[in-house]
Amino acid sequence: MSEMAQMVPAAVRERLAAGAHSVLVDAAALDAVRQRFDAEQAQALGRYLAAAQSPNTLRAYRSDWVAFTAWCAAEGRRALPADAVDVAVYLAAAAETRHSDDTGRWALSAATLERKAAAIAAVHAAQGLASPTRADVVRMTLRGIRRRRRSPPQRKRPLLLETLERLLEQRPGPAYPGGVARLRDTLLLLAGFAGALRRSELAAISYDDVVCDHDLSTGDPLLVVSLAATKTDQQAQHGQRVALPRGRRAATCAVCAFAAWSQVLQAHRDGGTAAVRAVVEQAATAVDDHEHVCHTYAGTDLADGSARALFPPVSRHGHIGQRPMSGRAVAELVKRYAQRAGLDPDAFGGHSLRAGFATQAALGGASDREIMRQGRWSNPRTVHGYIRTAHPLEDNAVTRLGL
Ligand SMILES: [Zn+2]
Repeated sequence: MSEMAQMVPAAVRERLAAGAHSVLVDAAALDAVRQRFDAEQAQALGRYLAAAQSPNTLRAYRSDWVAFTAWCAAEGRRALPADAVDVAVYLAAAAETRHSDDTGRWALSAATLERKAAAIAAVHAAQGLASPTRADVVRMTLRGIRRRRRSPPQRKRPLLLETLERLLEQRPGPAYPGGVARLRDTLLLLAGFAGALRRSELAAISYDDVVCDHDLSTGDPLLVVSLAATKTDQQAQHGQRVALPRGRRAATCAVCAFAAWSQVLQAHRDGGTAAVRAVVEQAATAVDDHEHVCHTYAGTDLADGSARALFPPVSRHGHIGQRPMSGRAVAELVKRYAQRAGLDPDAFGGHSLRAGFATQAALGGASDREIMRQGRWSNPRTVHGYIRTAHPLEDNAVTRLGL
């Protein structure tokens, strides 16, 4: 807001700026203006005041005010005049909002939250009321928001291959019923890591999205997963495809894990819990993590057009749900394994698999282009961040200081 605009009483400013912004109209103040000035003077003033605030700001104020009144209605509080503590609580709650993707970024910037407070102040001023935003509690809350926004949000730690293997060691044993979750979690962790998948993407995969194919150059089996178009990826109307190749070792082979888990779900479909138990017990006795089974794998008839979830919930007792796991449940699964492995569960989440892919790939010598392709990153800066994590000294002048 310009200095000039601040010097003029807000009630006058708002009324003269635009009659269409009814939320900011103060009829009493308008009458006072008409009494004290002649029409020409009022019009001249009006022209400049109208230019002081952009239509965008007024539009934003209006939607901010609507959001605040909706919150007040939901909380059973009065919006006009508002109580200062209510405004502070409202701003703090809004500040806590995170993006719905799994990066944990703040949804609203400090500037947006300040604008929300300014909108509340403007409406009060337009009604000739003292603004609750001048109260200490609101000013302190805004100061706290600005300070917290300066410190970078906590990023989920990348899950490197070595850590992934530690997590895999924490799986339940192969015997029934723990073996059911073991087989699902093996595929989930390997697919999430190899595919650089977001937790929401993992949760949403259905059997109809997975095709068992072969790599044309090596003849090795490979899974191709089609991802539905995501919110963060609006250009890709058709969605994207991610290849999950055969692992070098059977224990970390996504295709083997897919084959083993699909056998369980087929048994579940055809024979219920008893059949699942038989398949898991059979697999537990024949367990040999060193032998690939994927080279003869021909796919599954679970891809039948019914959008059967690839990752349904599995209870402690081995019961398999029908609906897909939620993205949150995927993140909790990663955290649970991290905790069992003696790692800080707060540092890991659904995003750790995706971040781990990029960092591990960079450690393996992959180029930005290669990493961006599998991870479907369109902004090289995101990938450069992971590469810097992987190679802190590479391409870095600190190595030339002669220390
Ligand atoms: Zn395999």
